[in-house]
Amino acid sequence: MAKGTLSIHSENILPIIKKWLYSEKDIFVRELVSNATDAITKFKLISGIEDSFRIDITIDKPNRTLEFKDNGIGMTSEEVEKYIAQIAFSGAEEFIEKYQGKEEKEQIIGHFGLGFYSAYMASEKVEIETLSYLENEKPVFWACDGSSSYTIEEGTKVGRGTIVRLFIDKESDEYLEDNKIEEILRKFCAYLTYPIFLNGRHINNKDPLWIKNSSDATEKEYIEFYHDLYPLDPDPIFWVHINVDYPFNVKGILFFPKIHKRFDFSQSNIKLFCNRVFVSDNCKEILPDYLTVLKGAIDSPDIPLNVSRSYLQMDRTVKQLGQHVSKKICDKLSSLYKMDKEKFLSHFQDIEMIVKLGILNDDKFYERAKEFLVWKKTDGSWFTIEEYLEKNKEKTKGKVYYSTDEKMLSQFLSIYQQKGIDVILAGNFIDAPIISHLESKIDDLEFQRIDSHLDEMIDPSREKGLLDSDGKTEGSKIASFFRGQLPKDLEVEAKSLSTDDLPALLVLDEKMRRLRDYMQATQGKESAIPQKKTFVLNTNNKLIQKAFALQKSHPELAQDLARQVYDLALLSQKEIDPSEVSKILTQNTRILEKLAALVE
Ligand code: ADP
Repeated sequence: MAKGTLSIHSENILPIIKKWLYSEKDIFVRELVSNATDAITKFKLISGIEDSFRIDITIDKPNRTLEFKDNGIGMTSEEVEKYIAQIAFSGAEEFIEKYQGKEEKEQIIGHFGLGFYSAYMASEKVEIETLSYLENEKPVFWACDGSSSYTIEEGTKVGRGTIVRLFIDKESDEYLEDNKIEEILRKFCAYLTYPIFLNGRHINNKDPLWIKNSSDATEKEYIEFYHDLYPLDPDPIFWVHINVDYPFNVKGILFFPKIHKRFDFSQSNIKLFCNRVFVSDNCKEILPDYLTVLKGAIDSPDIPLNVSRSYLQMDRTVKQLGQHVSKKICDKLSSLYKMDKEKFLSHFQDIEMIVKLGILNDDKFYERAKEFLVWKKTDGSWFTIEEYLEKNKEKTKGKVYYSTDEKMLSQFLSIYQQKGIDVILAGNFIDAPIISHLESKIDDLEFQRIDSHLDEMIDPSREKGLLDSDGKTEGSKIASFFRGQLPKDLEVEAKSLSTDDLPALLVLDEKMRRLRDYMQATQGKESAIPQKKTFVLNTNNKLIQKAFALQKSHPELAQDLARQVYDLALLSQKEIDPSEVSKILTQNTRILEKLAALVE
């Protein structure tokens, strides 16, 4: 028997490994299964032999051992010395130097060649029995109890391959339980290339769908695969199959899930694999933020999974991957929009967040997505902005009219409808920044909320322009009566509107209203930004005419009516201050009392 000393300076490497990596203890199983898989792949490549490859994991509870056995390439005694004793520990040394005193410890094991040594997170001793595939090599037995010395001698293993035997320590009893190991294997190794057996039971029996050619995979298979990954989810809407060889290697399938209201946009849902071994499902850094809604799996040996997250964000491969995925998503949406518009439109609500966030955050995405950025019209049909402008160019002269709410602004809507002007709905919270973004991108484009613009609502042909004996029009007299009853700084006008039904409306300056809404949305409180409001009375409306006429016979009622008309306009445009509501109700009751008294 030969003895050796591990080639490290630090005497206490294993306690450090245990302490540092404790929070991710389960992954030692993944690391050892990965090594076994690599060993089999290496043998396959070198020998060209197709054998019945397998990985056996065996729990021996009475003896407190957990074994990982493969029929891969095996190791000669020189290789054990070189790869296990020397390399791994020099990696460990680097690891300690780099990470001592730092917080970052995610996914660093493999990076520093510590994969094998993660076994010590759960063991007090590890043995290796191995026989190289090379002819005339002798079996090797290696053992190390976690101190810096190990033994190596001729072993007894028959048949090519390696057994790594863990003597589970007292704090890690759970790893002697079938259920525990099975749970870990199902999580990390479900899609592994070679069959894995736990105590003789086959655990993994599926090839991941991403390895198939997209042209060979059926819709049913995609949906089944999705449910494998997310058993509790409803069916996905559609998916994108990714297969890139250059400049990096990545395969995967990304799904658009049905998004429910409480969707957490800050969490990534994509499962990341490295050579079919599950690595993580919280790798936000891999894709641009606006794609975090996507679900699915990405498998890439090229993503540097083992380094810290801040580094990952800056990595070129990762950036390119994000851009590639983003392009594929746009291509998919674009082809769906062209080939199956009905499906696209019926799901637009589910995907609009991705599309709009992408547009706001990524110019390249915007360039691709503008052709399928659609808006719903109040009659239920859909437009792109280009189509809207083309269809309405005579009437709106480059303006796009929108409403944030179908019901709230319904009186305004009917005016636009009468005139045959299309109004799009833009009531999602993300629409405000999108509107500003589009205005900055497209020359001369101007969005106007339907209550911000009077021109379209006026019917000049009915304007009562006649001057009376005082040299005033009826309109100017109505305006001055109302002005007398309303807040001092309010601008009041009387106009001939194209509808008779609407008594009055507030015209809100588009830019100032947007700024105020933005401040409210971002700061969450009422902003003190002054608003440019014009209160416009409809000279064709009966209530306005009546209130004006009543000022001589019933001055108090006329004044109350004037104020009520104003308050109702505020209310219908959601401009009312909540503290004013009770005052309005009192005023309303007073009016009703007076009217009731009149008909007595
Ligand atoms: P890494 O896998 O990142 O190289 P490890 O510490 O996990 O680091 O393993 C070190 C080396 O030991 C491997 O590169 C491989 O050469 C060898 N090795 C580990 N496990 C096995 C195995 N089951 N069969 C053959 N060789 C192995």
